[in-house]
Amino acid sequence: MLIFIYMILLAAIFAAAFCVFFDQAILTRRGTIYRVNTDQKKVALTFDDGPSPVWTENILSELKREGIKATFFMIGHHVKKYPEVAKKVAEEGHLIGNHGFAHCVTLYYNPWEIEEEIKYAEQIIKEATGVTTKYYRPPKAWIRKTIKEKVKSLGYHVVLWSLNSKDWVNFNHKKIVEYIEKHVKNGDIILFHDSGNVFSIEGGARTQTVKAISLLAKTLKHNGFKFVTVEELLNG
Ligand SMILES: [Zn+2]
Repeated sequence: MLIFIYMILLAAIFAAAFCVFFDQAILTRRGTIYRVNTDQKKVALTFDDGPSPVWTENILSELKREGIKATFFMIGHHVKKYPEVAKKVAEEGHLIGNHGFAHCVTLYYNPWEIEEEIKYAEQIIKEATGVTTKYYRPPKAWIRKTIKEKVKSLGYHVVLWSLNSKDWVNFNHKKIVEYIEKHVKNGDIILFHDSGNVFSIEGGARTQTVKAISLLAKTLKHNGFKFVTVEELLNG
């Protein structure tokens, strides 16, 4: 019995270390848009898991202050709860992407289940914002080839990221910005979250994400970078 508990504990520590120190998007990004090859100093900020009545609102204020347009991959379930926040994101000129309805990992989905999931989220986002989504980001980046192909056949681009802020486990905004400044390259798509924490996709404490935006904007602008949406990055 003691060995069993010990093994579960080890597995949990291993899983946590894997998530904190490794970026699983590296394993699944083939055939997706995770960055764009460009000689222009442009990057795209992306925010996942919203909208949140607290954090999305704060992030929108920071983005407005810095004159940045970003991309928000929204969860249908959250849009259903907070349609006004989703609408505000669209009204402020940001790009809205589809992050599925329930934030379930799609690894075990079959093609018609993924279609149902995406179309349902698409409908909810459309009702709230008037926007028809065409960029899809799979929860936690886990997606297999058949599902990628199915998503593309629905007219969607599958979008991951090339630079992970790890803002859900990094509790110091200066460290987040230092890490991004050190690793950023032209055409990077940078992952942040506007909802949730280590244990949940809703609520959470995104204070460090909010604080990071202004510092990151100033730092990267000083280094010659411009911030664009994923669509603008793709369209050159
Ligand atoms: Zn997510």
